[in-house]
Amino acid sequence: MPDNADILQLENLQVGFPIQGGLFDSMLGRPRTVVRAVDGVDLNIRRGEILALVGESGSGKTTVGRVITKLVQPTGGRLLFDGDDMTALRGFSALRPYRHRVQMIFQDAYQALNPRHTVFDAVAEPLRSLKLVVSDAQLTKHVSEALSAAGLNPPEEFFARFPHELSGGQRQRVVVAGALVIKPDLIVADEPVSMLDVSIRAQILQTLVDLRDKQNLALLFITHDLPLAWLIADRIAVMYLGRVVEIGSADDITLNPQHPYTIALRDATPRVRDNGPRGGIKALHGEIPSAARVPKACRFHPRCPLAFDLCRQEEPPTIEVGPQHMSACWLAK
Ligand code: SF4
Repeated sequence: MPDNADILQLENLQVGFPIQGGLFDSMLGRPRTVVRAVDGVDLNIRRGEILALVGESGSGKTTVGRVITKLVQPTGGRLLFDGDDMTALRGFSALRPYRHRVQMIFQDAYQALNPRHTVFDAVAEPLRSLKLVVSDAQLTKHVSEALSAAGLNPPEEFFARFPHELSGGQRQRVVVAGALVIKPDLIVADEPVSMLDVSIRAQILQTLVDLRDKQNLALLFITHDLPLAWLIADRIAVMYLGRVVEIGSADDITLNPQHPYTIALRDATPRVRDNGPRGGIKALHGEIPSAARVPKACRFHPRCPLAFDLCRQEEPPTIEVGPQHMSACWLAK
């Protein structure tokens, strides 16, 4: 298989969550409303590629990550991994080979680590639960290599420490080591640096890029931060209300966005310019609307002649606006 072949494909992926109605609704036998958290997402991730999935809270990006790591079952569409259909795969034994190849890095290292487990046990846990080692010597070797690759050196110094004895950056590196230790092909990193200081963020991001370069890992980097995605990713997919509204190279999406939502996201980003005046931020008003009650007007292009709910019913085609650059808006060039 070529080095840049697709490792993962999502085809028309859908996830719906029923909303609990009130007592009155159930007495009248009214059907339950379903929130379409993910609403027909098509995506591919290549081997050795960093794809950033960008959007506000509520856009559905974390749900996509959870479907890929099999923490959430989709209600429609397909998930293909290395060409095999994994959509219906369920149960610990059936999922074991898949979990060996796909790992997740969570945002909150405090919650991801058991406070009663040492660093060694936390990193060794996937090797033990997936029964991937046959001896203690092998276990120690793999844990040492993972800690070292995650930037915790010398690794032996960290074996006996507990999470509360580590800094925030070191804790997140332990979480990265726990994902790396079984040598996966794909890592889903959900806001992995959003809770860290700016200086530590750069170190962790550099560690992830180095790992991709050395191990040809594919990485799905989920973030709300467009400039951060630009720094780390090869391609960026922008999500809004459960759909991918724009996808392209990191440079095209950040420097030449075509969808009004991506333009609004870019313009809402503070920039520090040499000799430039302060200000220039255009605030993105309000929060993302509820997927259960899609607004009439388009929030990021109020003068669009189409009502937004109509636009969602008659879905805009994904128009090619440049090489490998697609935008889903009727107004795209
Ligand atoms: Fe918004 Fe209009 Fe584009 Fe639809 S066609 S996404 S309503 S700007």
